[in-house]
Amino acid sequence: MTVSFLLSPEQEQLKAAARAFADEHLRDLAAAVRAEPDPLRRAQLARPVFEKAVGQGFLKGLIPAPVGGAASSGVDAAIFIEEWAVHSPDFVISMAGPLIALAPVYEAGTPEQVARFVAPFLADAGAPVAAMAFSEPEGSANFDAPTGTRTTAVPDGDHFVVNGRKAWASHLSGWDGDGPDVMTIVCRAPGGVSLLVAEREHLAGHVEVEEHYDLPGLRGCLTSRVRLHDVRVPRANLLGAEGQGPALTRNAFLPSGASIGTFAVAAMRGAFEIAHRFATTETRGGPSPIIDHQSVADVLADAKGKIEAVRLLAWRALDAVMAQHPAAPELALHSKVVGSETGVEVLNALVKMVGVTAYDDRYPIVEYLHEALAYPVIEGSNIGVRRRQLQELLRAPGYDPLAASGMS
Ligand SMILES: Cc1cc2nc3c(=O)[nH]c(=O)nc-3n(C[C@H](O)[C@H](O)[C@H](O)COP(=O)(O)OP(=O)(O)OC[C@H]3O[C@@H](n4cnc5c(N)ncnc54)[C@H](O)[C@@H]3O)c2cc1C
Repeated sequence: MTVSFLLSPEQEQLKAAARAFADEHLRDLAAAVRAEPDPLRRAQLARPVFEKAVGQGFLKGLIPAPVGGAASSGVDAAIFIEEWAVHSPDFVISMAGPLIALAPVYEAGTPEQVARFVAPFLADAGAPVAAMAFSEPEGSANFDAPTGTRTTAVPDGDHFVVNGRKAWASHLSGWDGDGPDVMTIVCRAPGGVSLLVAEREHLAGHVEVEEHYDLPGLRGCLTSRVRLHDVRVPRANLLGAEGQGPALTRNAFLPSGASIGTFAVAAMRGAFEIAHRFATTETRGGPSPIIDHQSVADVLADAKGKIEAVRLLAWRALDAVMAQHPAAPELALHSKVVGSETGVEVLNALVKMVGVTAYDDRYPIVEYLHEALAYPVIEGSNIGVRRRQLQELLRAPGYDPLAASGMS
C-alpha cells in the first residue's frame, strides 16, 4: 500500500468546490450570525444556505457510500470540513448531525432501518436535520451509571413511550420546534441503556423547547434544552438490543470526535493568517515589522508546526474511522483531545503575540478563540469523557502502543 500525503486531483477539486461554496455563502452567513442577537433567529439564518449545500450534494458527502451516500474517505471529509469551518464551524456542526445520529444506525440497524432512517439525507433536497439526543441537563459523562441516563422508554404494546429531558445536541427542536427528521435517543429501557430512533411523525407535538442556548462561541448552532413528552416510538425503531446503548453511543461519537482535530485546525488556520499578516506588516512604532523580533517569530513558528501536526493527526483519525480500522477509537480520541487542547493553546499564544489589537474587529482572533474554547468540551468533554476512554484503552490487557500507527 502506498501512503501519500499529496491531495489527489479529485481531492483538489473537492477543496476548490468547498472553498468556492464557503466564499460565496459562508462568509456572509457568518457575518449575519454575528449581528443577530436571538439564538433561534440566528440559527434559522442558516436554512437557505443549508438547502443550497444539500442541493449541491454536500450532505451526501457525510453519508457512507455503502448506504447510498457519497462519503469516500476520511481525508475527503477533513478537507471539506476545514474549508467550511474556517468561516463557519457552527454551520458545519449543524449540518453534520447525521454523522453522529446515524452512526449507530449503520452499526446496529437492520437493512430496513438503515434504508428508512437514511432516506431523508439522500434526497438532495430540503434541509433535513438529525439529532443525537445523548446529553441531559443534569450531566451525561456518567450516562452508563445506574442513574446516569434519566430519559426513560417504557414498553406499551408494540411501542416504547419516551419521557425525559435532553440538552445541547444540535437540532433537538428541528427548524420549527417539532423535532428533527430523525432523533436518535439515548434512553433507559427495561433492559438497560438503549437507543431508539424517533422520526418526525413521532416527535411532532411531543417536543417542548425549554430554552435555546445563547452560546458564547459556535453561535449559529441551534442547541436547546427540550422536554420529550410521551413520544411513542415503535419497537421496530430500537437499534440492536435493549442494553446495547452504551457501546453504540460511545462509537457514535467517534467520527465527530475525530473531526474535532479538523475543527481546531480551521480555527488555528484562520487565526494564524491574521497573526502572520499582523506580524509582517505592523511595526507598532518600532523600526521594522514585529516578526523581526525573535520572540514573535517563535510564536508563529510554534503555532504553524502545531497546525501541521494536528492536521495530519486528524486526517489519519478520520481515515481510520471511515475505514472502520481497529485503530479508529484511539486515533479519534487523540484527534479530539490533542487537537482541541492544541487549538486553545495556539489561539491563546497568537492573541498574546498580536497584543491588544486582537480585541479589534479587523483582527478577529478572539472570535476564533471563542470557537476553539468549545472544542475541549463538546463531543464529550476531554476530562469527563475522552481522557477516561483513553485510560480504558491504555489499561486494556495486551495494549500495543504501536498498533494505532501500524508500526507493530
Ligand atoms: C455546540 C454543541 C454541540 C453539541 N452537540 C451535541 C450532540 O450532538 N449530542 C449530544 O448529546 N450532546 C451534544 N453536545 C454536548 C456535549 O457533547 C457534551 O460534551 C456532553 O454533554 C458531555 O458533557 P460533559 O462531558 O461536560 O459531561 P457532564 O456530565 O456535564 O460533566 C461535567 C464535568 O464533570 C466532570 N466529570 C463528571 N463525571 C466525571 C467522571 N466520571 N470522571 C472524571 N470527570 C468527571 C468532568 O470535568 C466533566 O467535564 C453539544 C454541545 C455543544 C456546545
